[in-house]
Parts: sequence; C-alpha cells; structure tokens
Amino acid sequence: MNERHSARRPIRVLPPQVAARIAAGEVIERPASVVKELVENSLDASARRIRIEVRGGGLREIRVTDDGCGIPPEELPLAVQRHATSKLREDDLERIETLGFRGEALPSIAAVAELAIASGTADSSLGRRLVLHAGRVLADEPTAHPPGTTVTVRRLFENVPARLAAVRDERAETAEIVRTVQRLALAAPAVRFSLAIDGRPALHTSGSGSLRTVLLELYGAPVAEALRELAPVEVACARVTGLVTSPDLTRANRNHLHVVVNGRWTRPGTLLALLEAAYRPYLPRGRHPICVLVLETPPQMVDVNVHPAKLEVRLRAEREIGQAVAERLRELFARTPRTLTLHDQARALDSLRVQLAEPTTAYDDASGEIVTPAFPPLRLIGQLAGRVILLEGPDSLYLVDQHRAHERVLAERLLALATSGTSEITPLPEPILLEVRAAQLERFQRWLDRIAELGVRCEPFGPRTFVLRTFPSLPAADPLGQLVRPEELGPALLATLEELDRAEGEDWSERLLVGLACRMAIHRGRPLARSAMRALVQALGETRAPAVCPHGSPIVLRVAHHQLAQQFRW
Ligand code: ADP
Ligand code: MG
Repeated sequence: MNERHSARRPIRVLPPQVAARIAAGEVIERPASVVKELVENSLDASARRIRIEVRGGGLREIRVTDDGCGIPPEELPLAVQRHATSKLREDDLERIETLGFRGEALPSIAAVAELAIASGTADSSLGRRLVLHAGRVLADEPTAHPPGTTVTVRRLFENVPARLAAVRDERAETAEIVRTVQRLALAAPAVRFSLAIDGRPALHTSGSGSLRTVLLELYGAPVAEALRELAPVEVACARVTGLVTSPDLTRANRNHLHVVVNGRWTRPGTLLALLEAAYRPYLPRGRHPICVLVLETPPQMVDVNVHPAKLEVRLRAEREIGQAVAERLRELFARTPRTLTLHDQARALDSLRVQLAEPTTAYDDASGEIVTPAFPPLRLIGQLAGRVILLEGPDSLYLVDQHRAHERVLAERLLALATSGTSEITPLPEPILLEVRAAQLERFQRWLDRIAELGVRCEPFGPRTFVLRTFPSLPAADPLGQLVRPEELGPALLATLEELDRAEGEDWSERLLVGLACRMAIHRGRPLARSAMRALVQALGETRAPAVCPHGSPIVLRVAHHQLAQQFRW
C-alpha cells in the first residue's frame, strides 16, 4: 500500500528551498497534537506495537513506546533538529508516502516541553538517549534500548503561558487524546495499540489487520451486529472500501465518520457532505452512522501539505469519489430493514391482533414465495391489525407497514414517470370535481400549468370549481393501481398543493409527487386481500429504497430468529 514499511533512510536536513515549501505553522496546539505526532512517527517506523501512556490530560506526561526500526545513535541529534527528516525522497512533496515529512514535530515539541527520546536499532548494540527542554540539550547519554523508540514529553507548555491558558481542562484534553488514538488505530488495523490514562488501561487493539475487528475493539461488541460492508468502489484512480452501521445503530454527531486516505485519518469536507446527503433520508433527524471508509490512491492524487498539522488533505477528484461512495451508501441504506428490538416488539404486539386476511388459507399457500431484488424470498403470513403485513423470510420475521410501503411504491412510480418525460397520461374513468376555497383560488390557478407538465390536467369548471381529467398513469390492470381510490385524488391534490404553498422551493415537483403518493397510499386500518398484499410486497421489493420511507421512518422491520431464540431461551 505505502512505503511506510520499506527500509528506513538516513535522517538529513532538508534543503532550504524544500523547507520553505512546507506548510508551516504551529503543529503542537494541545496535548493530543503531541500524541498524534509521536504515534505517526512510530507508524512511519513500521512499529507493530505502540504503547501510549498519558497523565494529567497529557500536560504532566505523555509517553509513546514503539517497536519500530529505531534511530541509529549517530542520527539521534538530527531527529530533534528543525527540518531534518528521513522521509522525503528526492525532495518530492508531490508524492508523500509517509505520515510525517516535514521534520518539524520533534523540535516543535522540544521547544514547548521537556522531551526525552531514547532509541535503539537492531544493528546497534547500545542505544542513545537525549533530553531537551525549551530547545536546550539537558542530557545526552548511551542507554540500553531494545529496537524501537521511547519518547517521553513532560511539563508541556510550562514555558508558553498563552498555550497553557488556551488548553481546556484535563478531562477535555484526555477525551481529545482518546479520540486521536482511536483515529490512529482505525487507520492502522495491523498495529497493536494500547492507551493508558493515569495508569489505567483505556483502549486496546489487537493488531489483527481487520478493520471490522478494530471497530469492535473501539466501539464494543454491539456494533458487530449492525456493521455492513460497503461494496468496493473504484473511481478516479481510487479504491474505496468500508464499513458502516445500519440504521439500527446511530450516533448523535458526525464524529464517528472516519475517512482513511492512504493510511492517514482525515476529514475531507466535500466527501463527508456528499455522504451525509446520501444517508440523511434514511436515518432519524440528527442521527449519523458509525462509518469507516478506507481510500487507497496513488500518492500524487493526494496533497497532504495543505494543513500545518496535516489534519486535512486535498484529495484530487474528491467530488467524483464522494459521489460514487455516496451512491453505494444510499443503495445500502435503502435496502437494509431496521431490526425491531424485542423490547419494542412485545409492546407493539400486545396491543395488536393478528388477523389472517383469508383465514382458511394456510400461509404457505400455492402462490409461493415473493421473490424480489431487495429482500430474501418471503412467504406471506397475513395482515396484522389492518396495518402491518407479516412475512416470513429464511432467518427472520418481516413486518411491513402497508401505508408506507404503498407510499414508497407510488412515489417512485410517479417520479419515474415525471423524469422519463414520457408521462403516460391516463384519463380518469370519471372526471373528478374539485371545490377550491376562495382564499386558495388564486394560488391554485397559478399551479395549473405547472402540474399539467406532470400529467395532472385540471380545468376550470365553475367560479371555484375545477375538473380533474387526467393523472399520471397507474396501470388500471395493476392491483396496486386499484388500491388507489379515485375519490381520494382530488383532496390529495388540494392538500399537497396547499402544503407546497406554505414552503415553496426548487424541488416542488418532487415534493408534489411525494406528497401525492403519501395521500393516495392505502390507509392503515384497511383490510387487504392476500393478492393485494403480495402485489404490494412484490412492488416494494423492486423499488430503490424499500426499507425506509421518504421521511426516514422504517417501512420494514425485521425480527431475526436468533432474537426469538434468545428471548424464548430455546
Ligand atoms: P518527520 O516525521 O516529519 O520526519 P519528526 O520531527 O517527527 O519529523 O521526526 C524526525 C525524524 O526522526 C524522522 O524523520 C525519523 O527519522 C526520526 N524518528 C522520529 N520518531 C521516530 C520513531 N518513533 N522511530 C523511528 N524514527 C523516528
Ligand atoms: Mg513526524
């Protein structure tokens, strides 16, 4: 993947013209920045294990120990010198394959704290230890050190009162350190991380190399059940893989969206905005999934030299990549039914009555399984309380909200007809008379031309009366079309237009059709024949987003057999 694990090169001082091109700035803003820089150095040194110990929010002490390649004794003084690095090859800032490259971190830390660095290599029998404070060398001595490096930072910002004042309380700094280590660990699943806070273990990863395992180690076992794999995306020289939690498991903020670009944790703003737009419709308001995207691309495609602390990278083709990934995410969310927690289910079932629509028919009847792209083969059981269709899948019970299912099917059909431009217009079997309230008359008239474009033809008939003659086609032969009651079209149209009047917007045509779909869809409480239920589930399984309604509420809930086994104690 990258060159981090290749043979190490000697440390050298960068030529001034290269140093001048480096995005300069304060790298060390708070204790977590120290942790980040030190751990990145360990990762660049091909460490397999990294131990991080912090005390007093990192202000009292930060120690990072690794088993990486180490620094040869004769080079140690160079390591703490400004603009000295072993990482830049041919001064090529365009092709950076390591996390560090500026040779600034260690000297910057040594300027604002006491820095002790001890290191040993496989070749040298004895290591070397250097201690600096405020840039001055306090000690320089030979020491025994196994291959690897230990850096200890104490008295951080003691000599920079302004920085110290800006640092928030210990708890906040500790929290930021934990977040930082989590991010570093996510970006390096093959490395064993351990973090101890004030002597107590706070975080541990096994270095298994599996992204899924790291996520479980960082977020806990309940995440396992909800994690879904994103189908890999190849776009614009980049390959993106990732894991994301289903709508069953969400968080109240965006902090859990992780993007790892060539082994570097980062926050590409455009990409994240596209992702959020993609999952927004499928999650409750204000909720966000836990998601890790791993992006690999040739180093020329990424500019890491734009932010002093390298917190941001510039990703060429970010929009293109973001759109492709967002589409994958959308597909995934649109198709993943929410799991019903049994706690809720017990309450839900208490108050409802199961009613088999045609009670004499055993549910595994001759009409067989309902096979769709979205769901596993389903057998129809029946209707629950006139509002939920019950189905059996290979490993779960499925509950389908009949109103939302119909709404989803209608909305997608209407939208498809409108966007294909070939709006088939069906004359209504009988024209429908609409009575418009005086207060609404003027606005209603202004809508007439616009809705005509969508296949809704409505003509003046009397002073406040209009006649609705056509509607976008819902094939009459289709059992779903038959579920729509023509007498509901008029009121549906009036109510939807009134809603649009209250909140005008660019996307009026889409909102009009979605609004109509909602009002035309079968109501809860309406008994359905088995043939209608089958047709509905069939059509739902062929939509683009069968799991969630346009407002983000679930259409389908799932009760897995293993949940039943658990609850029944089988
Ligand atoms: P940079 O990482 O940008 O090169 P630093 O100031 O962070 O700059 O480190 C300077 C140099 O010290 C590195 O290039 C590397 O050669 C060496 N170094 C620092 N930390 C380690 C470590 N943990 N293991 C091995 N080498 C290290
Ligand atoms: Mg570094």
